[in-house]
Amino acid sequence: LLSARGLRVTFGHTEALRGVDLDINTGEVIAVMGPSGSGKSTLLHALAGVIVPDAGTVSYGSTPAETVEICALDETARARLRLTDFGFVFQFGQLLPDLSAIDNVSIPLLLGGMRRKDALRQARTWLGRLGLAEQANQRPTELSGGQAQRVAIARALVTGPRVLFADEPTGSLDSLAAENVMVLLTDVARETGTTVLIITHDARTASYADREIIVRDGRVTAGFALSASVAGS
Ligand code: ATP
Ligand code: MG
Repeated sequence: LLSARGLRVTFGHTEALRGVDLDINTGEVIAVMGPSGSGKSTLLHALAGVIVPDAGTVSYGSTPAETVEICALDETARARLRLTDFGFVFQFGQLLPDLSAIDNVSIPLLLGGMRRKDALRQARTWLGRLGLAEQANQRPTELSGGQAQRVAIARALVTGPRVLFADEPTGSLDSLAAENVMVLLTDVARETGTTVLIITHDARTASYADREIIVRDGRVTAGFALSASVAGS
């Protein structure tokens, strides 16, 4: 679904990525691990078209006919692709503090032009899926850290993205909340066939993935298959 070839990204004198080749199949849940500063976030940003690499290519698509070369798209086209095809979750959920959980989740649908009534219905369904039916009308400050991250995941998945990019989504949670979030995230991803890339420093979090890749000094150094449940193509 996503293929990187020879990715290089330089910030000033820092070589954040030094030639990364990577193939990601549809439906895979991949844990991205590696030391601080090794290039994990940069890799996600390059794969998602948030940044354009200095060299190399990222192709996205599951058939030759629909495959696009992300680095060749202009900024507007990349922004549109991110809105329609990708979802993002960060370490701190970045929910809008003045909006209820359900309003936060409905934002991407409203941005996409959906009627408010339909957006709220769909947002409610997603909150329910992530075990948050009771919290729909609460604001982020009234939620636990784990609940807030589940709202952020619902918001990232409500548009039905094909790829979910998560940068340390459990990094601010205690281990019980982190496991709870990972169970829900991986269940929903497998049910919907969403491909997931999840950066984590935590081996427990990584153990929910199908495959683990290690980024070290700007290179992908190793990959381990963690389970046999990887879908095709
Ligand atoms: P962490 O685990 O701490 O989040 P990381 O593996 O995600 O680290 P990156 O954020 O990808 O690492 O950074 C890789 C390297 O690129 C680091 O040396 C970092 O300082 C540098 N870097 C990343 N983004 C920028 C930027 N916008 N400007 C300058 N340097 C940057
Ligand atoms: Mg990072």
